[in-house]
Amino acid sequence: MDQKTSVLLILTGGTISMGEDPATGALAPLDKERMLSHLPELGLLPVNISVVAFDPMIDSSDVDTDFWKQIAESIRDRYDEFDGFVILHGTDTMAYSASAVSFMLRHLAKPVIFTGSQLPLGFLRSDAKENVLNAIEIAAAKDASGRPMVPEVAIFFENALMRGNRTTKKSTDNFDAFYSYNYPDLAKSGVHIKYEPHVIHYEDGSKPLAVNTRMDNNVVVFTLFPGIREEVVESLLNVPGLRAIILRTFGAGNAPRAEWLYNVLKSATDRGIVIVNISQCLTGTVSMGRYETSLHLQRAGVLSGFDMTLETAVTKLMHLLGNYSNHEDIVKRLQMPLCGEVTI
Ligand code: ASP
Repeated sequence: MDQKTSVLLILTGGTISMGEDPATGALAPLDKERMLSHLPELGLLPVNISVVAFDPMIDSSDVDTDFWKQIAESIRDRYDEFDGFVILHGTDTMAYSASAVSFMLRHLAKPVIFTGSQLPLGFLRSDAKENVLNAIEIAAAKDASGRPMVPEVAIFFENALMRGNRTTKKSTDNFDAFYSYNYPDLAKSGVHIKYEPHVIHYEDGSKPLAVNTRMDNNVVVFTLFPGIREEVVESLLNVPGLRAIILRTFGAGNAPRAEWLYNVLKSATDRGIVIVNISQCLTGTVSMGRYETSLHLQRAGVLSGFDMTLETAVTKLMHLLGNYSNHEDIVKRLQMPLCGEVTI
């Protein structure tokens, strides 16, 4: 690692920053100093590390759109000072946050690496140290010409570096808690960290970082299941102010052929509501029109979400709704990759 490389470590909370409350036994965030006392190794790394902590640090189940804005702004405000950024974050909603931040930071030319842990830093068997030290090494890594190895928003966990907006939390228990189902890993760590430059996105450097934190959370996620009732769907589609629906369908994007379902979906798209078809399967893509059971969705104006993760579909819609009022502008951008989040 380059001696002069500098990394900003942003502490936002999560299990990694927690300790047991002696009164209740429940895990709750520690303060910055107590947390860092468990990481004396930071001083041994050949990287200049500065640390900032959110106040308060939170369990990531409490994350909202303002929190994503705060992360993006922390990077924007100190972008020129550092070669890379590491965000310590709770695992529960890390995939949502990494996806949201990837849409907020356009023309990103430096690494922004999210990580966390399944056990707190202070626990003997914790996975925290390994995750933090690897994430810092990746955020500081440069190639022979001095170019950052991974100028992307990514998640490092256990032994894999994954594109943030392709990642899903898959386990409450295992140390390899995240997986990128539809896109190859950007790097693997073992004795060495092995980067895969052919799947990493590199900006040409002609445009400066542009930070856009506008988001509109008038979206809903709705999962189909056999036997679903018309009244339930109807009431969901008529929530006042609703602008977009993520419809979690079966298999390759299929749904019951019931006439009432077509009618309620069609009446929603006629009112300008954007409906995106995402599969309940984790691997593979939505392919509307492949089966008869998706033709009526197409006719009702439902759009394919292709192979987007749920986390990406939610945050991409919030981002697009926050920035565009024109239906065509939203639909066009929804169906093209903005930062490597979808394969079309
Ligand atoms: N509840 C914790 C959080 O997401 C879980 C974790 O960090 O692993 O903040």
